[in-house]
Amino acid sequence: MNQKIETLRSLEEFDHILRDIESEHYQAVGFKDIQPSDEFIKTAEKERAKLTKKIDPKLLAQYERIMKRYGGRVVVQVIREFCGGCYVKLPSELAVRCRTELVSCPNCGRFLFYVK
Ligand SMILES: [Zn+2]
Repeated sequence: MNQKIETLRSLEEFDHILRDIESEHYQAVGFKDIQPSDEFIKTAEKERAKLTKKIDPKLLAQYERIMKRYGGRVVVQVIREFCGGCYVKLPSELAVRCRTELVSCPNCGRFLFYVK
């Protein structure tokens, strides 16, 4: 998988972790009595910040925009030739390129990754 995609996926994972900590729903499904330590939260925030420095600012801005708009699932899997985010069929050329390059869906703008 493309290195940039790996980094973006990792960033998205951090955002989900940090959001879950705040989420009542998440606490309700079994984490009510388990409070993450301040040490954990600080570490996660620090690691997230470190990660953002590795990402091109333009790309990061695009990531933040998509995250804000959809509230998650910024980096999505391509299912055959379909975008896993908006379910639209991608142009064949794009579906091939996402195997090696960082490309985004022309319809929803999400970053695409391909899994064999
Ligand atoms: Zn899409």
